[in-house]
Amino acid sequence: MSVSVALRLPSIDSLLRHPACQPLAERYGREALLTGFRQLLDELREAVVAGQLTAVEISPETLAGRVSERLALKQRSQVRRVFNLTGTVLHTNLGRALLPEEAIEAVQLAARYPLNLEFDLASGKRGDRDDLIEGLIRELTGAEAVTVVNNNAAAVLLSLNSLGARKEGIISRGELIEIGGAFRIPDIMSRAGVRLHEVGTTNRTHARDYEAAISPRSGLLMRVHASNYSIEGFTARVPTAELAALAHRHGLPLLEDLGSGSLLDLTRWGLPAEPTVRQALLDGADIVTFSGDKLLGGPQAGVIVGRKDLIAKIKKNPLKRALRVDKLTLAALEAVLGLYRDPDRLAERLPSLRLLTRPQADILAQAERLQPALSQRLGEGWTVTAIPALGMIGSGSQPVARLPSAALCLRPQVSKRLRGRCLLNLEAAFRALPVPVLGRLDDDALWLDLRQLDDEPAWQAQLGQLQT
Ligand SMILES: *Cc1c(COP(=O)(O)O)cnc(C)c1O
Repeated sequence: MSVSVALRLPSIDSLLRHPACQPLAERYGREALLTGFRQLLDELREAVVAGQLTAVEISPETLAGRVSERLALKQRSQVRRVFNLTGTVLHTNLGRALLPEEAIEAVQLAARYPLNLEFDLASGKRGDRDDLIEGLIRELTGAEAVTVVNNNAAAVLLSLNSLGARKEGIISRGELIEIGGAFRIPDIMSRAGVRLHEVGTTNRTHARDYEAAISPRSGLLMRVHASNYSIEGFTARVPTAELAALAHRHGLPLLEDLGSGSLLDLTRWGLPAEPTVRQALLDGADIVTFSGDKLLGGPQAGVIVGRKDLIAKIKKNPLKRALRVDKLTLAALEAVLGLYRDPDRLAERLPSLRLLTRPQADILAQAERLQPALSQRLGEGWTVTAIPALGMIGSGSQPVARLPSAALCLRPQVSKRLRGRCLLNLEAAFRALPVPVLGRLDDDALWLDLRQLDDEPAWQAQLGQLQT
């Protein structure tokens, strides 16, 4: 029988006094450190009694290191930066548009100092927060009046409720859509107190369908941009101009929910055509709603533009107060809109447009540049190729359009039976990095679309930490 000297855990007091713990106390506070040590020692007690730990494993230095790791993890912010290598640029789950520097500065200013949020500096009287961006939006869209709310879903809800409550809203069956995250037009209409009167069929709706539905109970005509799906083949849709003329003949307003919408014609940058807000208004839509953080490239917001009398009505609705935007959003929105005054430089200055228009050759060259290091890191079990790929705009804009892009395609070199597990493990390993990397699983491979990888040093720096 061998005689072993029983090890004893150091006391909490001695740990707290130990030099290795001084920096930790300063960083996390004595209280947190104390709790951390208590928990750790409790966990280790049994193993020490059973003689399963070595003296090094319970030395103050080792214990301080372990507590330090735990506290760092605990203090880490829940809001984490990630690499969006999914291929979808305006990814709703990843925060949609990235703001330009001008907007980030404006947000900082609004966060740090008091500001004229609802205060008219010229008259010294109370002001209206919409005044801060109304002039700019009118200039960029040709609208008579403007109001801004928390997001486009709120814009649609508020507009419908203000203009159509207790009346019928006439809308084509083909436009009764659901946007991700439980935004469904029939439900929003009902919550807004508008009775849904659907007309036409899923694929074809004619002017006569709308006409036949109009009655003294009608409150408005509504048009919704199909956004995230497309109907092809034998289809018919009444042009906005014709629909507006029809609505106006009967003294009814036409609401158009553009979804993303755009302030400029995107085809000038080689992107798929998307209806512009200005054109919808020119066609006669009385109220147009669109998102701030989709193709516009700004903060989350819902913009409502259109006829002055109708906007006035919308602003008087008590719901407006519940759905209003905060100062940080308004500051960012103003800065982003300001960039639209110079369309020639917009693609350089607005991150979402810069990313959407990034040339495929450029992305492919980057993939080729990063391929060797990743291939070496993953070793024998994987083939890593730099190849052209197809991405998406995202956020319901142009669901069928594909953006020519390029990716690192990671394929496991194992039997078919093991492939799925290997891919899931690798995908999880990328997600566990300090800056989680999010790719796309498709066709028995993990695809890392590099369109949005603009921080190569950060990418390279953490590659060694990939746990495969
Ligand atoms: C995206 C979208 C919405 C919702 O906009 P949010 O800004 O996400 O609230 C509403 N309608 C359409 C047609 C959309 O595409």
